[in-house]
Amino acid sequence: MSKTKRILVTGGAGFLGSHLCERLVSQQHDVICVDNFFTSQKINVVHLLNEPNFEFIRHDITHPLFLEVDEIYNLACPAAPGHYQYNPIKTMKTSVVGAINLLGMAKRCNAKILQASTSEVYGDPDVHPQPESYRGNVNPIGIRACYDEGKRAAETLFMDYHRMNRVNTRIVRIFNTFGPRMHPFDGRVVSNFIRQSLAGQDITIFGEGNQTRSFCYRDDLVEGIIRLMNASDEITFPVNIGNPEEFTIRQLAELAIELTQSSSQLIYKPLPDDDPTRRKPDIALAQKHLNWTPTIELREGLERTIEWFQNIDPEKYRPPTPNF
Ligand code: NAD
Ligand code: UDP
Repeated sequence: MSKTKRILVTGGAGFLGSHLCERLVSQQHDVICVDNFFTSQKINVVHLLNEPNFEFIRHDITHPLFLEVDEIYNLACPAAPGHYQYNPIKTMKTSVVGAINLLGMAKRCNAKILQASTSEVYGDPDVHPQPESYRGNVNPIGIRACYDEGKRAAETLFMDYHRMNRVNTRIVRIFNTFGPRMHPFDGRVVSNFIRQSLAGQDITIFGEGNQTRSFCYRDDLVEGIIRLMNASDEITFPVNIGNPEEFTIRQLAELAIELTQSSSQLIYKPLPDDDPTRRKPDIALAQKHLNWTPTIELREGLERTIEWFQNIDPEKYRPPTPNF
């Protein structure tokens, strides 16, 4: 039997999705990329459009879609706080109605389906680092809830479609990931700090900068989710993928200044509501079941990302929302 699979990637024009599409196209799979371009644009996949095994469909996953596929990676969802808070009701619909539509497709086609979930399901964690068994501390009525609770509900749907309909499901809980092709105007901390330091502008630290994040480089992340999709059918439980090296936001700002040799100054702005104070993945499950461990340290990943930012024309990027 041929190993070539028909693979649907939703959110495939986004930061992570476009890199995933590239990897799957290079493995000779027949790749269908679906995206509504809310937080991305054609520029991310234009180099794939002439590939015989790549196809793009502009579509919103909150509406039903009928395709015949073997595997589905569901990455469609705004991921940066400013983007998902712009239209929170739409964000929730994308996670929940989108998951129902795609799980229905997986059930009909007997396809394997992977959900891009998030470390946000742990909320502002009171267990550190966060193992998958930790049930989280999410404010269900706060400004991050449209995303956090939407992703939690999607996990519930994945588990229920698996238990009730035997759909072959996977759930990856992605921790902060960065790299080339991040939207320069997504308002996330890595893109903001690089953009600001390259332009010699003030670096905006929210709060005192003591909050922590653990940053995973894009290539490591994509390798992890492909391994999860191809892992044993027993692995239907959520698996954390992230880099456990933890940094304060102030340390990140200082590193961005150092690597860009910038004269930017740090300025302090109010901390947004419900901003998690710390975040670090426990990756024991990924190491055990996927034999996966991150290989690219923050410094090296930042160097590559800075190089990409130096070579793009920001004028070609439309800010998806005013929040950056
Ligand atoms: P991104 O915003 O670059 O990509 C998301 C893509 O989904 C975009 O291309 C966007 O246009 C598309 N999209 C949004 N709503 C859609 C809809 N209703 N229908 C069709 N397409 C839609 O973000 P990313 O960082 O590449 O994130 C990809 C996935 O990974 C998301 O599901 C996100 O929640 C998850 N994730 C990312 C991170 C991270 O640090 N990058 C962390 C945790 C989880
Ligand atoms: N942050 C910051 N300055 C910025 C953007 C973000 O200090 O210009 C902080 C933000 O408050 C959070 C952390 O950086 O504590 C990571 O923010 P991001 O939006 O990248 O992702 P999150 O992990 O919060 O979803």
